[in-house]
Amino acid sequence: MTQISERNRSLAVSQTLAMSQRSAELRAKGVDVINLSVGEPDFNTPDHIKQAAKQAIDDNFSFYSPVAGFLSLRKAIAANLAQVNGVEYAPEQIVVGNGAKQALCNVILSIINPGDEVVIPTPAWVSYVEMVKLAEGVPVTVPADIRQNFKITDEQLRSVITPRTRMVLLCSPSNPTGAVYTHDELRSLVNVLKDCPNVTVVSDEIYQHINYTGSFTSMASFKELEGRVVVINGVSKAYAMTGWRIGFMAGPVEIAKAVTKLQGQYTSGASSIAQKAAEAAYTGSQECVAEMCAAFRRRRDLVVALAREIPGLKVNVPDGAFYLFPEVSAYIGRRFGDRVIKDSGDLALYLLDEAHVATVDGAAFSLPGYIRLSYATSDDNLREAFRRISAALARLV
Ligand code: PMP
Ligand code: GLU
Repeated sequence: MTQISERNRSLAVSQTLAMSQRSAELRAKGVDVINLSVGEPDFNTPDHIKQAAKQAIDDNFSFYSPVAGFLSLRKAIAANLAQVNGVEYAPEQIVVGNGAKQALCNVILSIINPGDEVVIPTPAWVSYVEMVKLAEGVPVTVPADIRQNFKITDEQLRSVITPRTRMVLLCSPSNPTGAVYTHDELRSLVNVLKDCPNVTVVSDEIYQHINYTGSFTSMASFKELEGRVVVINGVSKAYAMTGWRIGFMAGPVEIAKAVTKLQGQYTSGASSIAQKAAEAAYTGSQECVAEMCAAFRRRRDLVVALAREIPGLKVNVPDGAFYLFPEVSAYIGRRFGDRVIKDSGDLALYLLDEAHVATVDGAAFSLPGYIRLSYATSDDNLREAFRRISAALARLV
């Protein structure tokens, strides 16, 4: 039998992608599944961005791109970050990759040695823990449940930092909870981190523009952490460009150089056409970003209202991203015929089978007892999905 490496075997399958795949398979069999599992905007990429990609093809942007990305794109990203976050970057500090996912994995693989500890507030996006495992680092999770609005405190952070801590991985607005740390909350975390000079702070800001609070603070704006913050961002969520696969890291030059070396050996520069499209996204009108955010906000209000009508679901009001993360423990231990709902994973499968609504088990985000629903879909789909969920949950005894 062909050997599969230990490294590969110890990796979990991405539950967000797996659940989406499962619902696509059911759909192909003719089942009318509403997919609230994968998190991606349902909008089409704006026309001016698509136009730039068509132009790039006609202009023969068909050759290998520089490993770190076209200089023009890195300049456009730097200008955007300066304008919206007030943080200055030179193009040498920015490396474009195949999505924020690769950008983040590049950073982790470039910094973490075997045995290094990486602090991850949870619930956290499925891939963080797995990427750290890939680097043979040790994920140190810090739980924050619905009672603390899914945000860790400075005391919690302080209590898990050890001499082996090499990285802290933050995500605000958060996937899977939509929690957004305020400036003051981030400041209190910075007050802990400023005394930890060996810790690199990686801030995943991919949902920065899907934020209903009206204010956003980039971790890179705190002077006390200068030289050791890496920002992860990209075009997938803000510009509805998930399939184009463009994301980036912005941070210290030595990290950018290490990431470029790594990327040069295993994927090279990202797609030249997609990079030209991303450049148009950053340099063009930002009206589309605001419009999509307004639509998500309306849907957020709708799903919170719908979820609150269902007895036993505990929901908070998410301040950003496009996820609802209800606590579902009231339904654990119940049954439907012979089927016992032992945990939130069983509940997600029950909802898929009985309500034909795809969600993701909270355990995939390191917090069992919850499920994640993406509300990046039409109002009609959302109303129908909640009607079905409500009916299916009511059948559990
Ligand atoms: N970080 C978070 C928190 C995400 O939810 C996603 C979306 N999958 C990513 C990073 C990666 O985004 P992409 O690779 O599409 O740019
Ligand atoms: N960010 C999305 C999600 O969490 C995309 C899927 C993925 O890459 O995990 O559903």
